[in-house]
Amino acid sequence: MTKSTTGVRVRAESGPRCRWCRRVLPEQKGAGRKRVFCSQACRQWDWVGRQRARELKLSEDELVVARQEIDSLYDDLYVLACAVDDTERELKAGKPTVTSLKEAMEWILDAARPLRDRTLTPSGHHE
Ligand SMILES: [Zn+2]
Repeated sequence: MTKSTTGVRVRAESGPRCRWCRRVLPEQKGAGRKRVFCSQACRQWDWVGRQRARELKLSEDELVVARQEIDSLYDDLYVLACAVDDTERELKAGKPTVTSLKEAMEWILDAARPLRDRTLTPSGHHE
């Protein structure tokens, strides 16, 4: 982990991850059963996914996700890709100004934000 002025930078490889959403698990204090999920919601989605796989006779490693979920994820990834390309082009183009860097940063952040808290949920689950 690297400390920065903005706080603690979490590196993707810095510890065990939630079995559902793949985020790094909070550090576990004391003994007891090892945590595998970061939240109750993740535990439930994992259960639903496995249940659904069983119903459809899929393996434990396969997951049914609604096309609409994937479409929306790809849409957001595409926006992020555009922001990255644009920013790279901008940086290569010459001396960026503080204003242009700020604009680029905002563009990247706007594009990244929808992905920040994104988790996929298994389909076939009706609330
Ligand atoms: Zn999780």
